[in-house]
Amino acid sequence: MSKSRVSVVRCSTYDAARVSQSVQALLAPLGGMSAFVSPGQTVLIKPNLIHGTAPERGATTHPQVLQAVIQEVRASGGVPVVGESPGYESLSVAARKSGLLEVMEELDVPGIAFDAWTDVRLDPGHLVPSLPIAAPVADADVVISLPKLKSHGLVVYTGCVKNMFGVICGTQKAQYHLRFQDREVFSRLLAEIYAVARPTLSILDGVIGMDGNGPRNGDPAPLGLMLAGTDGVAVDAVACSIVGIDPLESPPIRIAAQMGLGTASLDQIELAGPPIETLKTSSFRAPRAARPSMRQRAMSGRAGRAMRNLLTTRPAVRPEACRGCRICVKACPAKAIEMRAGKAWMDYNKCVRCYCCQEVCEHGAIELATPLLARLMRR
Ligand code: SF4
Ligand code: SF4
Repeated sequence: MSKSRVSVVRCSTYDAARVSQSVQALLAPLGGMSAFVSPGQTVLIKPNLIHGTAPERGATTHPQVLQAVIQEVRASGGVPVVGESPGYESLSVAARKSGLLEVMEELDVPGIAFDAWTDVRLDPGHLVPSLPIAAPVADADVVISLPKLKSHGLVVYTGCVKNMFGVICGTQKAQYHLRFQDREVFSRLLAEIYAVARPTLSILDGVIGMDGNGPRNGDPAPLGLMLAGTDGVAVDAVACSIVGIDPLESPPIRIAAQMGLGTASLDQIELAGPPIETLKTSSFRAPRAARPSMRQRAMSGRAGRAMRNLLTTRPAVRPEACRGCRICVKACPAKAIEMRAGKAWMDYNKCVRCYCCQEVCEHGAIELATPLLARLMRR
């Protein structure tokens, strides 16, 4: 069996010229952009833009990375378009806040909001009989994914596999959170989506990633790296290993590998770039996700809720930071949040621990808190 090739380059700054050179150097061992894009092909570029956040926060794909990739696509004769499905604001608003709109306007690249979809039928044995995949993704000749390297409160790490959850249109993402509450089951769904919408190429922005309270309200993590490959599972596995996360601890990566969508095993990966030992960092702070197990969920009624409240990481509002904007109220698929005295308040008996609220709060007013008993049990 041939190994998956993952290319890695160091890139310590978002200086435009430096990023452009780095993207070229990154793609060279993979055959360059022309290995993936032929003249006249439509190339759908999918950044990580689930919410609009200033680029320096490290939550979204950086505009200079998007610019460099657009230029490479054009140099190969491709016709680039940028597509995404931000969760709770329009694509233009999210793209403006994150700096991507400026690049798209300057380079005259259209942005397509994913609000029309194609139902892709799945074989029996999948979680759902069909998936509503954004039509521009299904119709594109080439799909290039541009994820951001971040910690994630629910699935530990987010990168190539998780980025493709964005091809599910708008509010349907929240419905999936509600329907597939168990972390393992939700991760299987992510892997099944990745299987259907598998990008031709994944380019992971780790110049400045995010650690701690990710994927929205963590801290910028200056890693100085970019990674790329056709096997997004392998790219994620290498990225995890660099930041000190066992790839198999992130369920979407483990399940995607089990499904044969790529490899998470470093000895099955051919690394093009500096030796991995020279890239590793011990400063990256990964979240310790603690979702209820199937068994805990199976416990019904009051006992089950008590178990969940004692053992699982839950969102917690910081009242002093809450601005009362109600965005989390609208985002909560379980309708577990209401406003009390102008601040968000959570009903933990309804909360399904999807952490969407933490992801959408742009004021950093929602943290993930692990109950004392759960902390003690992990020691
Ligand atoms: S917690 Fe955040 S999103 Fe929710 S109301 Fe407060 S500021 Fe808005
Ligand atoms: S309160 Fe937050 S974590 Fe709980 S269900 Fe609602 S959005 Fe998800």
